Amino acid sequence: MKLSRRTVLKITGVSTAIIAFLPKIAFAAPNSLRSIRTGIQPGNKTRLVIETAQRPSYSLSYPTNQLIITLSNSTVNSGLIPKLADGTLVSSIKQTQVGDKVQVIANLTKPINTISKDQIMVLSPNGDNDYRLVLDFVAGQSRTAVSDEKNLSKKDLPTKKYIIVIDAGHGGKDPGCIGKGGTQEKNVVLSVAKKLKSKLDASGFQTYLTRSNDTYLKLGQRASIGEKKHADLFLSLHANANPSRSMKGFSIYTLSEKASDEEAQKLAEAENAADKIDVSGFEQFSKDIRIALSALQQHAVAEMSVEYATGCAKQFKSMKITQQPGPDVRHAPFAVLRSTVPGALLELGHLSNATEEKLLTSASHQNKLVDAIVKSVKAYNFDV
Ligand SMILES: [Zn+2]
Repeated sequence: MKLSRRTVLKITGVSTAIIAFLPKIAFAAPNSLRSIRTGIQPGNKTRLVIETAQRPSYSLSYPTNQLIITLSNSTVNSGLIPKLADGTLVSSIKQTQVGDKVQVIANLTKPINTISKDQIMVLSPNGDNDYRLVLDFVAGQSRTAVSDEKNLSKKDLPTKKYIIVIDAGHGGKDPGCIGKGGTQEKNVVLSVAKKLKSKLDASGFQTYLTRSNDTYLKLGQRASIGEKKHADLFLSLHANANPSRSMKGFSIYTLSEKASDEEAQKLAEAENAADKIDVSGFEQFSKDIRIALSALQQHAVAEMSVEYATGCAKQFKSMKITQQPGPDVRHAPFAVLRSTVPGALLELGHLSNATEEKLLTSASHQNKLVDAIVKSVKAYNFDV
């Protein structure tokens, strides 16, 4: 069975150690529904929880006054009676078998907007609960309803511009790593960041640079720009150095308080050391943001980040850009990624390797890197 991008993500989110054999187990038997329930959350949000025996692979659709959750490789549970709380937007729920999929159809009292990714969580089993797909939503004018009412063609519909914050690492008194030929990381990544900004802008995204010149910014300041701009994605661009001059290739990282391996841990320490250059300012910011985020939100942000990073590694490889040996996506406690915005830190290559140092300073290779990143952003599913 071919795995969807989403399914692969869900699996990678579990544990890299069990990726190798998990798909065979997960898809041997169909998933089954354990419970369906609704409730009210702060901000008058309706919460819909679908509990399943296995990690759910799902898609959402929004017919007028309905929300349909389609669960792959699943069977209906005819004995299941949804527990519906009073005062939510959900008036009734039914299940329908469509081939090997189950559609959970929620009838709504009012139309809703497309549910953004940060309002969707897949939780792993704990205590009395199995896997849970958790969806939070409020009343709003759905896109479908707009098109029905005004009979607009698709091209006339207003489309949201997704916001990307591009962070060129280091800057000013912090050169980052330096190649044997004297190339400074801060200059390479600024050049790539500017090219990336113009290509993403041309592709219909709204982009911001954390720095557009050779200035020094604290890591927390960079993360706070992602917050203030309400970014949908935060990309921190870096280049690498390794004691072994033969080491080559790109590598992609997401935030985790526990590093995926020793090398990732050392890299995070090296990148975080940028903050030790100047002690005044924003040290507290990243801590505050993490405290403000609930465990559930952190889980959702981490999952979205891994999804982006997995797709990004795929695009780099498809463009034949050399990859550093190791897993496609690694994790480490990078301070610049500590925020509510999903994102990744991209080590574009090794300045410590003479061949890659030359490549990283060439316009053609920088354009190739930019094209791979643009493709990865376009392929990323901002809404589910
Ligand atoms: Zn760096």
